[in-house]
Amino acid sequence: MDQRFDVTERFAEGAQFIAGGLRSGSSGRTQTLVNPATGEPVHTYELAGTADVDAAVEAARQALPGWGGATPGERSDTLHRFAAALAEDAADLAYAESLNCGKPIKLSSEFDVPGSIDNTAFFAGAARHLEGKATGEYSADHTSSVRREPIGVIGSIAPWNYPLQMAAWKVLPAIAAGNTIVLKPAEITPLTSLMFAQAAQRAGLPDGVLNIVSGAGRDAGEHLVGHPAVAMTSFTGSTGVGKRVAEIATATVKRLHLELGGKAPFVVFDDADLEAAVHGAVAGSLINTGQDCTAATRAYVQRPLYDAFVSGVADLMATVRLGDPFDPATDLGPLISHAQRDRVAGFVDRARSYATVVTGGAAPSADRDGALAKGAYYRPTLITGAAQDSEIVQSEIFGPVLVVLPFDSDDEGLALANDTPYGLAASAWSRDVYRTGRATREIKAGCVWVNDHIPIISEMPHGGARASGFGKDMSAYSFEEYTQIKHVMYDNTAVARKDWHRTVFGDRP
Ligand code: NAD
Repeated sequence: MDQRFDVTERFAEGAQFIAGGLRSGSSGRTQTLVNPATGEPVHTYELAGTADVDAAVEAARQALPGWGGATPGERSDTLHRFAAALAEDAADLAYAESLNCGKPIKLSSEFDVPGSIDNTAFFAGAARHLEGKATGEYSADHTSSVRREPIGVIGSIAPWNYPLQMAAWKVLPAIAAGNTIVLKPAEITPLTSLMFAQAAQRAGLPDGVLNIVSGAGRDAGEHLVGHPAVAMTSFTGSTGVGKRVAEIATATVKRLHLELGGKAPFVVFDDADLEAAVHGAVAGSLINTGQDCTAATRAYVQRPLYDAFVSGVADLMATVRLGDPFDPATDLGPLISHAQRDRVAGFVDRARSYATVVTGGAAPSADRDGALAKGAYYRPTLITGAAQDSEIVQSEIFGPVLVVLPFDSDDEGLALANDTPYGLAASAWSRDVYRTGRATREIKAGCVWVNDHIPIISEMPHGGARASGFGKDMSAYSFEEYTQIKHVMYDNTAVARKDWHRTVFGDRP
């Protein structure tokens, strides 16, 4: 694929988007973006420091009365134009996402970018549909109504695995509901968040409604979470960092929304369509090179299907083509960085002492695979024979690694599925509606797919349970996070001495 634009030229002014324009950070520290497919530098920028976060929060604070006071129809019009602006930029966004993250171009152009445009279009409509209880006389002497109001300035922090989609998920419900926002993308993947903000500005989003600070977690991130003018923290990332974010947000009494890690189970009952389950497991575990919080990571397969499932997955994994992310035929790109690749390899290497690596378990080598060896690639990996309490079954690996374990009874399969601290997503595979119905009731997760694994849609909520966090992204349910309810109660009697006053003074008249 041709180079669509020069990153350094495009972001010459800097990688901070504050009050409607790009500017440089002022932390005195730089970040070099690396193409993980080649290991070559793409661009170097100055990171945001605490002063840049302060400037972004101030811009958001100033924009709040105007944007929060706009009608839903006005906000909706802007978001419709925003969706159209993103559609115009689709090819550039896909290019930047693949360059920065190593995503196969077919993934960024068929999943990340259209998903984000659809999200924007969804929230353009949803902005006009904020719901509440009907105004009414819930006490005979009063009329009550509910106001659904924006919360204020939102501070959001996003991870590197789906930078554009995470920006969309964090920003859209917040601004559709009349808040203003400061988003901190992961410092290694800021490009498409900045382009997202530029498209919004072209669409007429007022300056300061959406600000991007590209900074490190420890300083810019923590400063944003603890900022006294920020009313809510919305965080997507690992459970470990989420706990730290929660501590800081709690100390400043902020509303908190946490989308954290996952370790999704994939439960295959013995009457499942084996071909569907095998294909679903390979696609569901390898999407985005396994760097997906909902990826299938633990397949539990009922004993009669176990051997056929393992050999089917191993055969299908062998057909997955690693390659240049810009080659339309590439199925699997590199991991986000060489450090992440080495982290994944560490999990697999430790597992060799207690489990069997059926296929994969290696990075490409220079003599066999040529240029691929320079990138952060890792082969699709299938592991069997691990104990339920082992590290490879319990920990989030965030790489192209699937562990398969057998089970006997339905009770056992469902108990194993629930046996990690996480609860983000899961799937159940069976032709029997009663079995899948039971699985959807008993599996503790924010989403349970039946006979599929991964698809998401703008109209339905995404979010976790247990150590995977709380709160919802996407869908009208996300407005519960980004709005606050105010009860307004009117006296209807015009009586000075109200009956209930006798509980404080005097007797019944
Ligand atoms: P991470 O937790 O390391 O970082 C996430 C973000 O937090 C980054 O922007 C980082 O700069 C920032 N950060 C780091 N330390 C911080 C601190 N002390 N204070 C404030 N901010 C800080 O996660 P990651 O490695 O970027 O992403 C992978 C993780 O994200 C995985 O655990 C994955 O499951 C999770 N994730 C969850 C969802 C979901 O919807 N639940 C979606 C995508 C990714």
